[in-house]
Amino acid sequence: MSFNHVDGRLLIEAVPASAIADRFGTPCYVYSRARLEANWRTYDRAFGARRHRIHYAVKANGNLALLNLLHRLGSGFDIVSGGELARAIAAGASGAELVFSGVGKSQAELTQALAAGVGCINVESVPELERLNAIAQNRGQIAPIALRVNPDVDPKTHPYISTGLEQNKFGIPIREALALYQRAARLSNIAVRGVACHIGSQLTTLAPIADAVSRVVDLALELERHGIALSHIDVGGGLGIVYQDETPPSVAEYVRTLSDIPERFDIHLEPGRSIVGDVGVLLTSVEYVKQTPAKHFAICDAAMTELIRPALYQAWHDVVLIEPALPSALAATYDLVGPVCETADFLAYGRALALSPGTRLALMNAGAYGFSMASNYNARPRPPEILVDGANVIEIRRRETLVELMTGEAMAP
Ligand SMILES: *Cc1c(COP(=O)(O)O)cnc(C)c1O
Repeated sequence: MSFNHVDGRLLIEAVPASAIADRFGTPCYVYSRARLEANWRTYDRAFGARRHRIHYAVKANGNLALLNLLHRLGSGFDIVSGGELARAIAAGASGAELVFSGVGKSQAELTQALAAGVGCINVESVPELERLNAIAQNRGQIAPIALRVNPDVDPKTHPYISTGLEQNKFGIPIREALALYQRAARLSNIAVRGVACHIGSQLTTLAPIADAVSRVVDLALELERHGIALSHIDVGGGLGIVYQDETPPSVAEYVRTLSDIPERFDIHLEPGRSIVGDVGVLLTSVEYVKQTPAKHFAICDAAMTELIRPALYQAWHDVVLIEPALPSALAATYDLVGPVCETADFLAYGRALALSPGTRLALMNAGAYGFSMASNYNARPRPPEILVDGANVIEIRRRETLVELMTGEAMAP
């Protein structure tokens, strides 16, 4: 395994986390190359000979080095903005290996996607379809598309990461899909290629996934009866990981659920969290141990600016010491909070730990939606990202500087 405690020290592959904290300071993200590659290969191998295409969801973690490693394994990429498109290309991907998802693609982004020769644009509304057709016509191009349908299933995850319910903003209601496909098929500069769905993130049960897939397959068969032949079915991403005591299906079980998709359709998928979630940790140091009449607080140098998941979704991350506690450490039940001026700024509540000022900790399973959601709130530079590869340590993004934070600003004359 890539993350192990040996004699009270957290090892990331062959490197003690404390050595990385010494060299790069905290807060700091650290990733394991071996874990990243193993996760991608687990998906790839689960399909055996079945034709499939994995488009890693860049929004989970868009670091160029990580994208490039996945590209070298043969991964494609799911992108949701022009910025992610540029990142995927910079990491080595060709346009054809990209799928463009998202509910609000701008004129400029659709133009950029056509210029890059993106493999499939997953369209989410009637006006988007019309806008895309017009841009393609202007450019003398044919735009390859899938419609992202909303299958109206409850994914049983946190409401903020549910996307496939009728009340969500995403996708085209599945009841309206046939009519829109027929309309798309008549448009001069649109080529209908597939159907896509994505019902949510951190899914821990198979039933909603199986339900959504079966509805989408039914739609594909219905389209065939109406003379619209699709070449692929894109089942989205969303497979959950273990943060605490969840019991998500394994990748093998998940892929088995997809075996009901008829062989003539290529299977496309867009995993994000399940590829990078357990690849990374966030290292942080305790600045102060503060006792109030109500609580023991550990005030850390990481905050919601580095890892917003606890503040945004009440997410739970395991917190571990990366080296043995000092004899002076105080064992108590702590709320771990950051320095940011928001009550929502917390990393973890109610953890039994022995802490003292300077104790260094790791927030586990922080590889997905960690750095990619980091912000500069409170004028805090974003942390470095470090890749461990066996005994090698590679700084794949250096700590942001204060000069960078102010770049582009100007005084009024
Ligand atoms: C976010 C997203 C994904 C990835 O979801 P994970 O839960 O990280 O696997 C895939 N497809 C689309 C359209 C998304 O919005």
